[in-house]
Amino acid sequence: MNEATALRMIHWFRKNARYLPWRQDIDPYRVWVSEIMLQQTQVKTVIPYYERWMKLFPTVTALAEATPESVLKAWEGLGYYSRARNMQRAAQEIVHHRGGLFPDTLPELLELPGVGPYTAGAIGSIAFNQPTPILDGNVERVLTRLLGIQENPREAKIRQQLWKTAEALVSAANNLPNAGKRRLCGAFNESLMELGALVCLPRTPLCVTCPLKVECIAFKNGLVDVIPALPKRQESAKRYFEAFCVEKMGKILMVQRPSRMVNGQFWELPNQEVRSKRSLESIAKALQISTEHILSVAEVKHTITRFRITLQVYELGKVPVLPLFQASRPIPISDLEHLPVVNAHRKALKLLFP
Ligand code: SF4
Repeated sequence: MNEATALRMIHWFRKNARYLPWRQDIDPYRVWVSEIMLQQTQVKTVIPYYERWMKLFPTVTALAEATPESVLKAWEGLGYYSRARNMQRAAQEIVHHRGGLFPDTLPELLELPGVGPYTAGAIGSIAFNQPTPILDGNVERVLTRLLGIQENPREAKIRQQLWKTAEALVSAANNLPNAGKRRLCGAFNESLMELGALVCLPRTPLCVTCPLKVECIAFKNGLVDVIPALPKRQESAKRYFEAFCVEKMGKILMVQRPSRMVNGQFWELPNQEVRSKRSLESIAKALQISTEHILSVAEVKHTITRFRITLQVYELGKVPVLPLFQASRPIPISDLEHLPVVNAHRKALKLLFP
């Protein structure tokens, strides 16, 4: 693998790259926002979020100065909300301590909250055309197949080998004639990502059309089906929650999750986790209210990482005298759409107040 491989990949990318909004008018802020949003999330989901985000917070200064609630609201539905909080902290760092200038070296990029080696490599190469390597799930699949690695790519030794290969390849792109003028480092890294997304697919890779098929060891040796040898996924687990809707004069009770918890600062209906679905009688007894004040009104299924969550929603005709409800606040139903609300609860609210 050498400059010829890098050049072939760049040519392939220039011919086959998808039109994506963050690939227009490239600047470090746009690259950063898109890369953080794309973590654990599909491109088609990210596009409308990205476009909305850029209208709300078009610059790093706008993001630094926004209210934390508006940032969370713009992220609502994307999950992994620490990403949004870290982005605002990083934006404040850039504006208050770096004169509003995005750092352009790998060590400085890695100092920003929420920026790990992959994101730093992507910003360094795409926005600043530096030979900084990247390694995410797509690139891992391409490189393990290319090198014919049959061991688990998540093992430290193999990860190191993959990072080194990614670095050698992007450096080869950087050594091509006139590389500095043609933004080849970014184009090469994007070609790896794009190849993983469009051609080197997990189940049925389209090897015949692949620009790496000449040197790909997995293709030559018929190992495409067994590489990458990823560890088995953890089995999914069921979780069950009861949520309570108390409505009075156009307002409903909502609670805000404490900052340090998962989904911190997001709003939700008062709720509790239970082992399994309970009868109305036992819930009423636990809430110390009569069964005539409780009604099952909605059920929402939701999956987060390996958890398959059922949220059963009950309408209450009376507010129980329990800490769960004392911590809640009456919120006008018309204001709910402006609040950042936990995904499963947003789904429930849409069913209750369509
Ligand atoms: Fe992936 Fe096939 Fe290309 Fe090898 S030849 S990198 S397995 S698409």
